[in-house]
Amino acid sequence: MVAEIELSDEQFQRYARHLILDEVGEEGQAKLLAARVLVIGAGGLGSPMLMYLAAAGIGTIGIVDDDRVDLTNLQRQIVHATRRVGDPKVDSARETLERINDGIRIETYPVRINAGNAEALIGQYDVVADGSDNFATRYLLTDLCFKLKKPLVAAALSPFEGQLSTFRPYLGDGHPCYRCLFHEAPPPNLVPRCEEAGILGAVAGVLGTLQAVEVLKEVLGLGDSLDGALLIYDALGARFHRIRIGKDPDCATCGRRGG
Ligand SMILES: [Zn+2]
Repeated sequence: MVAEIELSDEQFQRYARHLILDEVGEEGQAKLLAARVLVIGAGGLGSPMLMYLAAAGIGTIGIVDDDRVDLTNLQRQIVHATRRVGDPKVDSARETLERINDGIRIETYPVRINAGNAEALIGQYDVVADGSDNFATRYLLTDLCFKLKKPLVAAALSPFEGQLSTFRPYLGDGHPCYRCLFHEAPPPNLVPRCEEAGILGAVAGVLGTLQAVEVLKEVLGLGDSLDGALLIYDALGARFHRIRIGKDPDCATCGRRGG
């Protein structure tokens, strides 16, 4: 993608700390401004991710969430505010992002992503970031991002731990997908969501912020991708672990018999 965007004087100041970096510069900032990123979920992961993507000047951010802001969300979902309790999360998030950066476009979808709408949504964007909290959505995004050849930056949370990876299985050998890692969803009762299990709120902030970094790297083509690796954050141990993920030749999504 060749980005042909002339930065305005305001943008030169706003993005000055990007422009000064050799690794980003005017060309990189133009790539960010031309990019279209779809964020699934304006919750614990989506909140910091959306705020950093907006601040960084991702030119078009899509937000998918069918939920409304609840008082119990505010302990970790920092894109929302007390006075927005009861409002659609996409509207609350839009207001916050427009306050951070009025020079980008926010596209909101107050729907639950499903097999009927996902392909049309994903098809309009360059990169997809999964901040959902359920396996059905993770597998749906895995299958469609593979089909449509879109990078998928995915994170998951437990009370004191988080996991993060980037999936580009359409690149072939050495590029696994989420299903190569987790062949099928565990029974729902084994994996409590934040709502039931609780979570130390800032853990979501760490993972959502890391997710924003990986999305920006993906757009900029910068550094080492987490494609083929799983980054695990152990908050209680104050440790990060990184493990390699292999491609499963029999994967139902991206293996020889899949796709
Ligand atoms: Zn796979």
